[in-house]
Amino acid sequence: MISRRKTRVVEVGPVRLGGGNPVAIQSMTKVDTSDVGACVRQVRRLTAAGCDLVRLAVPTRADTAAFGEIVRRVDVPLIADVHFSPERAIEAIEAGAAKIRINPGNIKKQGDVLRIIDCAKLHGAAMRIGVNEASIRDLKADVPAARRTGLMVREMTKYVRIFERRGFEKLVLSVKSADVVRTIEANRAVAEAFDYPIHVGLTHAGLPEDARIPSAVAIGTLLAEGIGDTIRVSVAGDPVAEVQLGREILRALGLYEEGRPRLTVCPTCGRCKIDVVRLARQVRKLLDGVEKPLKVAVMGCIVNGPGECADADLAVCAAEGKGFIYAHGKKKAVVPEEKLLDTLADQIRSLQTE
Ligand code: SF4
Repeated sequence: MISRRKTRVVEVGPVRLGGGNPVAIQSMTKVDTSDVGACVRQVRRLTAAGCDLVRLAVPTRADTAAFGEIVRRVDVPLIADVHFSPERAIEAIEAGAAKIRINPGNIKKQGDVLRIIDCAKLHGAAMRIGVNEASIRDLKADVPAARRTGLMVREMTKYVRIFERRGFEKLVLSVKSADVVRTIEANRAVAEAFDYPIHVGLTHAGLPEDARIPSAVAIGTLLAEGIGDTIRVSVAGDPVAEVQLGREILRALGLYEEGRPRLTVCPTCGRCKIDVVRLARQVRKLLDGVEKPLKVAVMGCIVNGPGECADADLAVCAAEGKGFIYAHGKKKAVVPEEKLLDTLADQIRSLQTE
């Protein structure tokens, strides 16, 4: 059981970040924000996949104008991602952004940062201060890697103080790097220094196949230490993959509160006498659309299978030509291999109606 870091709670619309609330998954749209229809479709795909918060880039006036329309058409809190322009930040807040992501380092005048803070305060919007390794103003190419973590935290401290002096504490903090170790170290330091909720992610992690392991290591390590109140897995391509990967990371740590089944499959070994992968794919299809947090297991033998899946609501342990169905470690049925799937389907149906 992971013990979560105690932070203050920051409300982003109806989503409560920090204070032991469930870790929120977020992602970003990857279509032109001024294309309202495309954005709304992508936001809906993201929420259907389990995304709790969606961020949209608003580089132009047309984007902030569209942002308000998108806010009205979706039922998830939207975050506006702002770089350089205080006007875009203020327009997005006025258009209904539940949160703004800014890097105060790229908003040149402190007076502009203060205007954004005052506007957010007036409208009840939260603010994420996002410091990225690449965007640290005084970070020169020749700064040794070992010093960069310290610089990121120093920048963050400077910005947090600006917000606090203005009486604004509805803050979420993020320090990101494309480097796994520096991401972990910088987040540990920020968690040590502040009690605001933390947004955790590895930036520019790459294509999904390259990004998944570094992201899982960086985000997973921090979450396992109790650090992280909202996560984003940054991958190139369809943002739904970000949500799926985020969910898998949370699930692996027992942090995903879900109403959907979880399928466990043994890796198989020389004892296995059936096609476990094929069977598991068939079982996964059976579970599509099941809205109950059932634990289902497909195991390749009865030597280790029953013991390994003793906590499953339903487990299939295969033997040559037949299958044993267990429920919470107790044998329920023995059926010929060809009847295995139908029997399992019946059992799943009866559990659903319980
Ligand atoms: S459950 Fe059986 S077949 Fe699967 S890995 Fe374990 S011992 Fe091998």
